[in-house]
Amino acid sequence: MIGGVFFAVGTVIGIPFWQDFIFSIGIIVAMVPEGLLPTLALALAAQRMAKRNVLVRHLTSVETLGSASVICTDKTGTLTENRMRVRELFLSNSHCTVADLYDKPEIVAAHRALFAGAAWCHDVREVNHDGGTRLVGDPMEIALVDMARAMLPTTFAPPRLDELPFDTDRMRQSVVCQTPEGRVLYCKGAPESLLALCTHISVGCGIEPLGPAARDEIVRAQDAMAEQGLRVLAFASRPVPDSAPASALERDMIFDGLVALEDPPHPEAAEAMRKCREAGIKVIMITGDHPRTALAVARDIALVRSANPRIVTGEELRALFRAGLDQVLDAEEIIFARVSADQKLRIVQALIERKEIVAVTGDGVNDAPALKAAHIGIAMGITGTDVAKEAADMVLLDDNFASIVSAIEEGRAVFRNIRKFLTYVLVHNVAELVPYLAFALFRIPLPLTPIQALSVDMGTDSLTALGLGVEQPDAQAMRRPPRPQHERLLNLRLALRSYLFLGVIEAAAAMAAFFFVLLAGGWCYGVVLPPSDPLYLRATTACLSAIIVMQVVNVYLCRSSVRSVFFMRLFDNRLIVAGVGLELALLLLFNYAPVANMLLGTAPVPPMLWLFLLPFAAGMLALEELRKWIVRQALRRKRRPDEMIA
Ligand code: ADP
Ligand code: MG
Repeated sequence: MIGGVFFAVGTVIGIPFWQDFIFSIGIIVAMVPEGLLPTLALALAAQRMAKRNVLVRHLTSVETLGSASVICTDKTGTLTENRMRVRELFLSNSHCTVADLYDKPEIVAAHRALFAGAAWCHDVREVNHDGGTRLVGDPMEIALVDMARAMLPTTFAPPRLDELPFDTDRMRQSVVCQTPEGRVLYCKGAPESLLALCTHISVGCGIEPLGPAARDEIVRAQDAMAEQGLRVLAFASRPVPDSAPASALERDMIFDGLVALEDPPHPEAAEAMRKCREAGIKVIMITGDHPRTALAVARDIALVRSANPRIVTGEELRALFRAGLDQVLDAEEIIFARVSADQKLRIVQALIERKEIVAVTGDGVNDAPALKAAHIGIAMGITGTDVAKEAADMVLLDDNFASIVSAIEEGRAVFRNIRKFLTYVLVHNVAELVPYLAFALFRIPLPLTPIQALSVDMGTDSLTALGLGVEQPDAQAMRRPPRPQHERLLNLRLALRSYLFLGVIEAAAAMAAFFFVLLAGGWCYGVVLPPSDPLYLRATTACLSAIIVMQVVNVYLCRSSVRSVFFMRLFDNRLIVAGVGLELALLLLFNYAPVANMLLGTAPVPPMLWLFLLPFAAGMLALEELRKWIVRQALRRKRRPDEMIA
């Protein structure tokens, strides 16, 4: 549109058609910031994230992640290592460890059904591996199978006749096996889910009806083990008649016992949690596990530090109306336990309505809606299903919560980097625009031809701009609150600094260089120079050279809008160093290589010009340092040291 407007104005003031046309094209070239480079910066950030174990599926989510204000995370495998080991059992009213059982085969024999259930009720597969065999599947199930195999004399697997698969809503799994004693159903799952379906309890020497006192005992045992952060699983079994329909399988079961597994928290989880706190990101645990287990793990990694965090179970959540949920979400530390996938979706939606930027993790098929609904869906790479990965924006290759936090750091850096980059290119855009305006308004020879402007946009400044786009996250990146949702890439401060401050200085240098050469060559105002006049060629080259020299200085100024250049390392960003090398090499080529002279309409500038440009370069540096100093003083007065680094 701007190009169109300028064309129209040119026609009105009587500029010949072709000249006016070239002029408008020049304006467009000068005004449009390079669109490809931000994408490239995002792509490079995605590449860095991949090195930190986060695979990006949608490029824009790199930047979204930088503004995340809430992370809803799973527990198992994300905050914990998912390296399960059976620690404790609860069999007919007494606790025992695995080691205890090695010495007491009679107990194992008396509770054979539990170990048979652990050995056969699962989705673990045995695969050949390096000559031997290896179990692959859910680490919890592998731990159970390992325990059962150590206890049971034979590992003969009876044929499986039927199965009712596990899902996070049922929280249990059953299989029907053809054993020598007839058909038996083995069931394992969350104690709450199983106990409701049990009518009897195995007491070692036989079975007894499961009375309220025994139920209480079991719940107490579960609580005690969960309190230590253990994941508690219940086992039940039942002989089934040959003709029982699938719908009538999981009922009237015999409760066989509890098994508690330990799963150590990730060593990096606590540190990642601390970073989130500093970065103003709220972490909410959403787990299918028992509330006490969840709380114990949350305390372990300092997700919960206060005495009474808000712990909400799926059952309580179901009874909550929107206002109630809102009140829960106001809390500082929140754990959702024993929740199903559809409730996860509800939590995510409520958070989004509260104007949070939500990242959510998920692995199961039924996590897909929540992953889609969130601003950033993060699927587990190891335990995640394909459906979850398809629905997600990112895949966490190591399933580790700490990797999400590193990715957020990169995301925050990208936003700031694109700003640095934008400042940089807007400055040369002004220096390219002013010559056209001067040409149109004052009827002087055009100081910079469109192809010369393009040679800056797409040539000399390309690598340095990209270098700004890939700057390392600064040390303060995770000490600031998330950027407000309404904050735009191009804000007033950035526009003023690049257009009216740095841009004007650079444009002044470019115009001064142009007139320096023109006047030294004997030109006076009003004289029309043909495009092939050697003086005109030298003068435009002076304008172009000035822009390139100023941009070499400017790239260092743009690395921070607050920090002084003198406190930055000059060579730590290799791409910028290479970019400056490219600028200087092209500067020499544009001046002294005959091919470039021919293509760009340039000619070697008088050597005096290089000296003439020095004060401009030094002046831009000095003025920008002064501006930064004033900004720093203001920030110090406002006590905003976190912004000092920006
Ligand atoms: P988490 O958030 O810890 O990953 P899940 O939603 O996967 O929890 O599981 C919820 C509950 O279901 C677990 O606490 C456990 O009691 C039970 N459970 C998990 N996996 C299985 C399984 N493979 N078989 C039977 N029950 C399971
Ligand atoms: Mg799970």
